[in-house]
Amino acid sequence: MSSHKRMSARERRRQIHKRHAVIVLTCVVLVAALIGGTYGVTTLMLRQAEPAGASSTVSSRASAGSSGVSSAAASSEAAPSSTGDPTRAGEAFEVSKTNLTGYQAKYPNLYVKTKVGQWKNAEDKAVYLTFDDGPSNLTPKLLEVLKQYNVKATFFLTNQPEQKNDIHYIRDIYKAGSVCAVHSASHNYKKIYASVDAFLADFNEMYELIQKETDGHCAPFFRFPGGSNNPEMSASVRKGILQEMTRRGFFFYDWDIDSQDAMGAGASKIYENVISGIQRGGNIPLMHNSAVKKATLSEVGSIIQYGVQNGYTFKTLDGTLDPSMYSFSNSVFLPLLKDSPNFKLSDKHEARFASLLGISSVPTSSTVTSSN
Ligand SMILES: [Zn+2]
Repeated sequence: MSSHKRMSARERRRQIHKRHAVIVLTCVVLVAALIGGTYGVTTLMLRQAEPAGASSTVSSRASAGSSGVSSAAASSEAAPSSTGDPTRAGEAFEVSKTNLTGYQAKYPNLYVKTKVGQWKNAEDKAVYLTFDDGPSNLTPKLLEVLKQYNVKATFFLTNQPEQKNDIHYIRDIYKAGSVCAVHSASHNYKKIYASVDAFLADFNEMYELIQKETDGHCAPFFRFPGGSNNPEMSASVRKGILQEMTRRGFFFYDWDIDSQDAMGAGASKIYENVISGIQRGGNIPLMHNSAVKKATLSEVGSIIQYGVQNGYTFKTLDGTLDPSMYSFSNSVFLPLLKDSPNFKLSDKHEARFASLLGISSVPTSSTVTSSN
């Protein structure tokens, strides 16, 4: 009896040891996978400066965002991992809004309501003029120039203190047929890139203002202040923002022509930069419409004249143009789009994604083995 008891006690101890070993092993594997995954994503930020030290609060928020993306995907389609389904084109944006916590549960109106279709590449010689940081007291004059040539543009808008008396020009931009999109309310890098929560609060403020001034016609895309590769944004905040914004149906455009008016380029330099940019096949010039950008305003007419005389067409961004062609953060952006049921990837996306996977598989696996 007693020997039997001893045996089973030993057995029990052995079983407990075994269980402990399994738990420890699982933890080691999980931690290794996490480190490996994080490293893989980080090394993929091909065009981004490496920002220092992401806070732990931020990473836990980012991972909350990630689980939200996958649960939304799982609940809204039977086979969430399937891609390249042509029937997806033109389907309404869909996302599960149940069981949301943290920032995902905030701003229930901050979802894209338009349909999401398959993105296209820019047509040959199409130019999409973009103006950031408006409206300002220069906006009426800019709208006049655009009207003179029957050209419409895309405005990435802000609501900074110095714009107080000019904010109503948003309605004029909308009425003129140009597109109103969110840039940022405060345009304060330190503030908006501190966390996903901070970014969302600022974004929602601008979104609501534009919705009000345009009778609900705010664009489903935005532009990051300083670009999506802004070094003021840590890697984890960038990923968290992109996860949360794509979950809500929003995407972003960077640019492929820099007029350099933000760096104080003079009028002739701005003209030269934009013209040489469209000559080498660029589509989206970055310009500014804040009160101090008089040099930019002075060149818009000449830029349009050159374009018209040389067979270019000027268009507004309408959400159908492939954003990955202009994104500085595709290493983070493309995998998110691929996982979402709401964005239909083009063949070009597929090829690009495959090549990114090819790059990521090497550093990820080697890190996992060497980190132990
Ligand atoms: Zn800006």
